[in-house]
Amino acid sequence: MSGGLLRLWICSAPRRVRRWSVPYRLPGVRQPRPQRRRPPSAATGRTPSEFVTAYEVWARTRVEQAKNGLCPVCNGPMEPGRSNPIRDTLDTAIQAVFDCNACDRRVVSSFGTLALWHGAVESFLHEHDESLLERPYWAVEQAMTDRHATLVAEEPFRYRIAFRTADAACVVDFDADLEVVELSVESE
Ligand SMILES: [Zn+2]
Repeated sequence: MSGGLLRLWICSAPRRVRRWSVPYRLPGVRQPRPQRRRPPSAATGRTPSEFVTAYEVWARTRVEQAKNGLCPVCNGPMEPGRSNPIRDTLDTAIQAVFDCNACDRRVVSSFGTLALWHGAVESFLHEHDESLLERPYWAVEQAMTDRHATLVAEEPFRYRIAFRTADAACVVDFDADLEVVELSVESE
């Protein structure tokens, strides 16, 4: 249909059809809203404390997904490993990382965070020091620093994170694949 004929068809079309010309909305498809200044979605409708919780859920979900071998960006296979610090947000000499083989994205975590989110460590903390579970993970020293970490061996790689309370200790050893290979709890 030529431009002139198209114009004629639109102009002569019944009113209901003409409304379709601009803009046409597909049923069930959300149209982009006009750009305006607003907080990110994670902060929308949440109190500051709810936002902190939402951020922690997001971070934990992302790391657990990577740990289970699924890239949180493209669903490609993830490879566990370690690297020197590439950001200064973690005060650790070695970082735990997961690299996507498909899209090259990297999820950065720490051995302390992986330990903190381990079921047996959470059970230990429930019993001996719940305060570490009541704060966000970035307020836990084990997660953000290597003050409670020990490089036990380079080859084969073994890295230890310790949670010590007044009357007990939980010690977690990781291997090069970021798997927990030993976990011990000692009570005094
Ligand atoms: Zn990916």
